[in-house]
Amino acid sequence: MENTADLKRYELLIGGESVPPSGGDYSINLDPATERPIARVAQGTAADVDRAVLAARAALKPWNAIRASERGRILMRFAELLRQNQEEIAAVESLDCGKPIAGVQRQDVPAAIDTLAYYAGWCDKINGQVVPARPDALTYTVREPVGVVAAIVPWNFPLMIGMWKIAPALACGCTLIVKPAEITPLSALMIGKLALEAGVLPGVLNIVTGKGSVVGDALVAHPGVDKVTFTGSPSVGRGILQGAASNFKRVTLELGGKSANVIFADANLDAATRAAASGIFFNAGQVCSAGSRVLVQRAVYDDVVEMLAQRAKSIKLGDPSQRETNMGPLISSKQMKTVLEYVDIGKGEGASLVTGGRRTGERGYFVEPTVFANVAHEMRISQEEIFGPVVSVIPFDDEADALRIANGTAYSLAAGVWSADIGRVHRMAAELKAGTVWVNTYGYTDVRLPWGGSGDSGFGREHGDVAIENFTEPKAIWVSLTP
Ligand code: NAD
Repeated sequence: MENTADLKRYELLIGGESVPPSGGDYSINLDPATERPIARVAQGTAADVDRAVLAARAALKPWNAIRASERGRILMRFAELLRQNQEEIAAVESLDCGKPIAGVQRQDVPAAIDTLAYYAGWCDKINGQVVPARPDALTYTVREPVGVVAAIVPWNFPLMIGMWKIAPALACGCTLIVKPAEITPLSALMIGKLALEAGVLPGVLNIVTGKGSVVGDALVAHPGVDKVTFTGSPSVGRGILQGAASNFKRVTLELGGKSANVIFADANLDAATRAAASGIFFNAGQVCSAGSRVLVQRAVYDDVVEMLAQRAKSIKLGDPSQRETNMGPLISSKQMKTVLEYVDIGKGEGASLVTGGRRTGERGYFVEPTVFANVAHEMRISQEEIFGPVVSVIPFDDEADALRIANGTAYSLAAGVWSADIGRVHRMAAELKAGTVWVNTYGYTDVRLPWGGSGDSGFGREHGDVAIENFTEPKAIWVSLTP
């Protein structure tokens, strides 16, 4: 390990102040492309979580004393500050996660700004209703903030997924403790400071970095936390659900996926394979909705395998800071090992490795874009989330067969269908088990549309008006009209 004494130190953000962790420990954060240390990051403790929860609880009243329209203006200023600082934020996110800079500038940062601006507009539109229950009473509802929210964020889209939680929670008058993934904490700490500059009151948005098993566990167990919003793996999600039962916290879980991208023989194969390639190789496959299973009707199976392999081979894998790079490294050596193990599993199961499957270079966690053909539905590489640039191409006969395979995993987050037959795409959209179905396209998300899944993909939805419901509680008020 190189000299780490001069590295920039990132502290916790609690009650509007940058504070050192109570245990005095810092972790060394690595650049996944070079394995060089890039920062020293505070390792929060249960005592820090306690402090952050106290700060967040104390900030609830003052945050809700601000007029809703003014809260909206503060969130809009926050969005504007993100815009003004977008180059620096994109550079930090790219470095921290090994994401190609062009992609961060095109997607992650604009999506975070859009999310904030969208929920800024919601602040003064969170209405109750007058409900005519009976003539002798005025009965109406109001929506109150759920209170203190713990937002636990994964490493694949720290800024964007973090903002999917922060923006609606702030709009609803909640206060938060954000726990970024241990290995990608930098953008959250940056935006925490911008929030303060925009006028978000101290204590409303706290950032506690550190281990999931320490900071995450303490947040989930804490009686002062009212809601946990989590994006991450099914195994951690299961533990969170159990832990949250202690004081019946509200929970939203966005977990993994093994999404099917179904290509019928009558589809525009060029467009379908282009989207199927980016559907799995974007962000090196570290995407919950990655189209990691491409189902292809038998008549065009060989052609599609060949077209996908050509696209995989043309991907420029390399330095994320270079604009022409399409794919960067995986996030960590652990993730790289997992992905390479799955390549071995696939070979061992008898699938045909058409291209890729190896690490490239000796520094950085780079794995080639990988295509497996002749994959059977029952194989582990077809059933388990790999979270890497590995696609399983599976043949099918007809609609029923495609649905049997597409719906035949424990997950149901997203799916794609490609066909020129309008009746078929609607039949498929109705039958595919998924929170989102893309037709003749793949992979888009937008904060205005609900996002989430069921089964091992979790429950609840983020985005849109659903998120407003997630972060508020309805209250019914009866006013007697009898004299
Ligand atoms: P992870 O579950 O390991 O970690 C997610 C977060 O949980 C991190 O901040 C981690 O520190 C924290 N954590 C770990 N242990 C904890 C504990 N005991 N208590 C509380 N918090 C704890 O997941 P990951 O490896 O960061 O992310 C990859 C996973 O996330 C994949 O399964 C992927 O599919 C999923 N994901 C889902 C979506 C979606 O929208 N559905 C989006 C992105 C990622």
